[in-house]
Amino acid sequence: MSNRSYSSQTKNVVIVGAGIIGATLGYHLSRRAGMTVTLLERDLPGAGASGHSFAWVNGFGKDPREYHTLNRRSLDMWYRLAHQLDADVGIRYGGEMRWENDPRRATQLRQRVRQIQTWGYPCRLITRAEMLALEPHLHPGDVLAASLSEADIHVETDTFIHVCLQRACEAGAVVHSQTAVTGFVVRDGSIAAVKTADAEFPCDVVVLASGVQTTELASLAQVQIPQQQSPGIVIKTTPGVEVLHNVAVIHAPATDEKHQHLHLRQLSDGSLRIGQGTQEGINRDDSQQHADALLDRARTYLPRIGDVQAIPTPVGYRPMPLDGFPVLGFTETVPNLYIALMHSGVTLAPLVGEMATLEIVDGVPVDWFAPYRPERFG
Ligand SMILES: Cc1cc2nc3c(=O)[nH]c(=O)nc-3n(C[C@H](O)[C@H](O)[C@H](O)COP(=O)(O)OP(=O)(O)OC[C@H]3O[C@@H](n4cnc5c(N)ncnc54)[C@H](O)[C@@H]3O)c2cc1C
Repeated sequence: MSNRSYSSQTKNVVIVGAGIIGATLGYHLSRRAGMTVTLLERDLPGAGASGHSFAWVNGFGKDPREYHTLNRRSLDMWYRLAHQLDADVGIRYGGEMRWENDPRRATQLRQRVRQIQTWGYPCRLITRAEMLALEPHLHPGDVLAASLSEADIHVETDTFIHVCLQRACEAGAVVHSQTAVTGFVVRDGSIAAVKTADAEFPCDVVVLASGVQTTELASLAQVQIPQQQSPGIVIKTTPGVEVLHNVAVIHAPATDEKHQHLHLRQLSDGSLRIGQGTQEGINRDDSQQHADALLDRARTYLPRIGDVQAIPTPVGYRPMPLDGFPVLGFTETVPNLYIALMHSGVTLAPLVGEMATLEIVDGVPVDWFAPYRPERFG
């Protein structure tokens, strides 16, 4: 992090991107006295990765321990943020339930549960009877091991982003949708203004919360933030009857050798979101056939889903730094440019929004971000 402190000068912050990270940061910054906050969004808020996300808030599969702890802290902060926002922010509580039907994977699940229990994660092995008590409509098939991570939640990102931006605007922030940032006015090595096709927005600090486009925008200021491509698919369905009564997310085993694990959640309108594989799994198949196949597989575990329709969803691109870990902080070369780029941004949004505000407004380097500074890419 740059040695320069912004605590005395910072007034005018321009955030580029109104996904879950830009919106959460906009909310936190706008709560501080004397701040002028402007969000510039080239599309509509939430149209990027946040709108394509499976949006499971968790620390389950996050390694190493330091990164797990970062996610765990943020998971715990979701509860307070929801309370502060004082509205329905689209959270579904109830935890994540998963099970395995293959001996090797069952052993891996038992080992993982034990490991994250020693890290203090609220996760435990459960019996088939406990699974069915939680979700009576589930037809899990063979269960060799099952777990419940009770603190995990999912978030309806559109609802959450809408509430955050509403609260930020009530506190004086301004959101410009369909306004793409095209460049920067650089003066004495710092960004003096952010350029769009029609205007220039003067600023003391610029935050790039622009997801996959962060690499391209940072390069306009001669800053290198490399990313890897990470396409993924989470299909939607039309609304149906309630199939999940208690848990927020389920992870079901593959139905056969050819397929990957299935993950599923149900939204408040009764529609489902279904994906396969891991949270970082690559998938580019946005065909109707693929969407129908995922829904059919979900029906084998939850026959009560009935005749809802699968809606294919365009490929979503995860913001994915080259080493997979977040990029957070001011850059050394352009000292008023702050980067907020990460995968698992739905999980990390409360922590990043609040801690980045300490760095931007109070001028303190937050230790939790030390492993994730932009300069690690040279
Ligand atoms: C398929 C999939 C599954 C996922 N599952 C999970 C999960 O289960 N749990 C989890 O925690 N995370 C998950 N993620 C990751 C998570 O969704 C992202 O990390 C998070 O949404 C990133 O939020 P963001 O605000 O940084 O980026 P985005 O939501 O992409 O927002 C960036 C915004 O910047 C705007 N923008 C870009 N360029 C410009 C410009 N030039 N001018 C103005 N605006 C611009 C874009 O339009 C966009 O709205 C998943 C992602 C995908 C794609």
